[in-house]
Formats: sequence, structure tokens, C-alpha cells
Amino acid sequence: MASALKVPFQVGMRRLFYAVTPNETSFSDVKDVPPLTDESGPFFFVLIFLELAISAYKKDGKYRLGDSVTSISAGVISRFPLLFLKAISLVSYMWVHEHFKIFELPWNSQWTWWLCFLGVDLGYYWFHRLAHEVNFMWAAHQVHHSSEDYNLATALRQSVLQSYTSWVFYLPLALFIPPQIFIVHQELNILYQFWIHTQYIKSLGPLEYILNTPSHHRVHHGRNRYCIDKNYAGTLIIWDRLFGTFEAENEEVVYGLTHPLNTFDPNYVQFCHAKYTFQRFLDTNGIKNKLGVLFCGPGWDEGKPRTGLIEDIPNVKAPHPKYDPKHSLIVNIYAAVHFTVLLIMNLELVTQKGGLSQALIMCLLLYIGFSLTCFGKIFDNAPEAVYYEITRCAVSLLLDWVMCFLKYINQGSSRKCQVTTDIILYKYSIHYATVHNQEEKNSLNQ
Ligand SMILES: [Zn+2]
Ligand SMILES: [Zn+2]
Repeated sequence: MASALKVPFQVGMRRLFYAVTPNETSFSDVKDVPPLTDESGPFFFVLIFLELAISAYKKDGKYRLGDSVTSISAGVISRFPLLFLKAISLVSYMWVHEHFKIFELPWNSQWTWWLCFLGVDLGYYWFHRLAHEVNFMWAAHQVHHSSEDYNLATALRQSVLQSYTSWVFYLPLALFIPPQIFIVHQELNILYQFWIHTQYIKSLGPLEYILNTPSHHRVHHGRNRYCIDKNYAGTLIIWDRLFGTFEAENEEVVYGLTHPLNTFDPNYVQFCHAKYTFQRFLDTNGIKNKLGVLFCGPGWDEGKPRTGLIEDIPNVKAPHPKYDPKHSLIVNIYAAVHFTVLLIMNLELVTQKGGLSQALIMCLLLYIGFSLTCFGKIFDNAPEAVYYEITRCAVSLLLDWVMCFLKYINQGSSRKCQVTTDIILYKYSIHYATVHNQEEKNSLNQ
């Protein structure tokens, strides 16, 4: 909440569309660069709620609660390392710039700004292309493609591992562009890609020739054969047109992975392919084949081309069934309320991390990670979900009391009100989950 107040509404919105000027986004020092992605959190949710309202009005099923919660959960998890560490892309960039720069372009020149805009976008294209064509990089990037829906919440479905595979693609820029210009463009490039995750914008006319648009990115998220390994652009689609990977949207797109994960478990979504790849690496004979498992495409196998065979991709046509466990309205409302409470807590953690000890941040992250796991179990209809949820509510109560006792939560009236609300919510939830579980058992026994 606090971060929203730091940025005027129209500035926050303009950032999401890269509609900024070099003057307002050029800084003399890295320390002066605002945390653009953190500050954009509230603006993401404004647009998600707007799209959600349109979807609810049209009753078109473009949002499903379980899928959206899983996407937002992935977005939360992907930011965890940044609570302890500086972004690896910035640290590596600054190191190369300091030790190996050939010359330094002036930070306050519009030419530097525009050159960096193009350079970051080109770096993103090649990172993104290899993230699809190199299996160990795909192990991270597949998270973003694991949603079978395509909406603004899908944009937040990000990998916690991806930044460890992307940083190297931007290092050539460090030889001549100052870090404070690079970091602004790297964040704006990612922010731009938020709004293109929508099905409500069909075409942008002549802009489709230059910009990456919702239509082009829908193709990128498709699992129809014509969509595979196409449209890697960040902001400009010109790179795909130039390097031969462009494909226009024609038949209706089926979204998601060619082999869907069929779960809303956030841990599985994050790490399943890394685990699978590691196991395949161990099970494969011969060093050449082991290297093939890591560095060829995810569809590669012995005797096949580097990126696999298109005939191996299931030939799907829309409409195609999705993984979609059903829940009662009360369970959906329950999960939505608790998830919202958790998101508010996460937002407070992100904005106040400077005032908290590392040990407390770690405790809160474990709590948030466990909570997201519980929501995954609820949406998967897992038999153990109710026990996880009772445990989570009990831990939530304990956490509130401990934080009050240690005076991490101050005793202001709004805080007292929040803690009281939490206690009522979690106590009622434990009661509800216990009764619900008993009713389920009784109905099974009858
Ligand atoms: Zn991709
Ligand atoms: Zn995307």
C-alpha cells in the first residue's frame, strides 16, 4: 500500500506501457533509480481487477481462481531472493562495467537512452529464444508458460530461477552503457510485457509491424503446432521478423505447455522441470547425450534435431479441455479472502524489509511459501488440504502474537485492528476447516 503512494497514478500507469521520456528516467547514479517493478505492484492489480470485471461481466471464463492464484503466487515466489540479495543482473553488469568497459557513454544523453532501449530489447530477444531452445534454461522459463489461461495474471507467473539464466545476455552493453541506464530499461522492458497478456485487445493496426502486441504474444503462449518457438520479442517484434521466428496469429490459440502440469501446486510449477532434467541427465548414458539433455531443446532426444520434431508436439485445436478441479462457492470465497490477506502481508514485507531482521524476513518467507503451498492444495482438491490449512491458520495466529510480543508490530490502532481481524479470521477458519472436514468424512461414510 505504501509503495502505491510513492508514485502518482498516471506515472505508474505510463511505466507499464514504456510511455516514459529519457529525461524522467535518466539518473546520475544507480542509487537514485527507483524500484520500478516493486512500485508497479498496485498498478498490476488495478489492471487485473479491471480485466477480471470485464471477464465476469461477459461470463467468458477467461479467469479461473485456481489458475490466477497460482500465477500470482509464482510472481510472489519469484521475488523472494531479492529480499536478501541484489539482482544478479545488476551485480554482474556493474562488475563488468567497472573492470572491462571500453568507454562510457554519457548517462544524460538521449542517444545513450535510445541505444540502451534497443540493446536491452535485443538482449531480451536472445535470452528468451535460448530459454525455449536450451533445456536447462527452459527448466526456469517453463513456469511462465504453465498457465492454461491467458490474462493479465498470467504475466505475473514468473520463475524464481530465471534471473540466474538471463543476466549474461546483457553483459555486452556493460562495455559502454552506464548501469543506471541499463537497469531502468531492463525493468521497463519487463513491465511493458505485462499488458500484452490479454485476450481483449485483438489488433493494434499498423503498430503490429513494430511492437510486440497482445496478438503476437498470444501466439508465443500457444501450444498449437504453428505457435511453437515463435515470437520471442520483449518490446519490439522487429527482432522476430529479422531473425525468422515471427508468426502471425491465425487459428485460435490453445494456451499452456505442450504437456500440461495438471496441478496448482506452486512448488511443482517452479521446480518440476529442473528436477525432471536433473534426473534425465543422471539416467542418460554418454557425455555427449548428457550434454544434449542440458543444452539441446526440451523436445530433443538421441537422433533427433537440436530443438526436437514438430510431429512430437500434440496437435491440439481450440476449444481444448483444461485442468479444472471444481470447488464450492464458499471454498472459493474462503481461499480468495485468505489469499488477499496474504498478498497485503507480502506487500508490507516488500516495502518494509529495511526495518526487519534477516531472521524475521526468513521466517515470514517460510510462512508465505507454506501458505501458497496450502492454497495450491486447496485448488488441487488434495485430500490433505484441510490439515495443511488448519496448520497454516494456527501458525498465522502464533505469528501475529509473537510479532506483537516482540514489538515488530507496533501498537497503533490500525495495527490492533488488523491483528484482531486476523485473529477472528484465522480462528473462524480453523473452526470452518475442521467442521468442513468432518462433514466430508461423514458424507463419504454414508
Ligand atoms: Zn517464453
Ligand atoms: Zn508471456
